Amino acid sequence: MKLEKCPCCLGQADLASMMVGDMEMWQVTCSSCGLSTELDDDRAFSEERWNKRLEHSKLKMWVTLLASFLPFLAVAAFLGGSFMGLRL
Ligand SMILES: [Zn+2]
Repeated sequence: MKLEKCPCCLGQADLASMMVGDMEMWQVTCSSCGLSTELDDDRAFSEERWNKRLEHSKLKMWVTLLASFLPFLAVAAFLGGSFMGLRL
């Protein structure tokens, strides 16, 4: 599975394993900012979790963008409307 870029800094993500007790645990860590997933004994799940986090952050970005644009659009519509009203 291909690892997506870091959702924070778009840095390179690395999958690393470490032994915890007698279990091999997996963790995806960003090589630039150090953002990482939680340790998990399922390698594929760790990769999936990392990749999904990127989608979540993208979605969150769009929601934030939309939310910050809505008041602006409302004001623009109001100003545009009153401007048109003055001209008529
Ligand atoms: Zn990063």
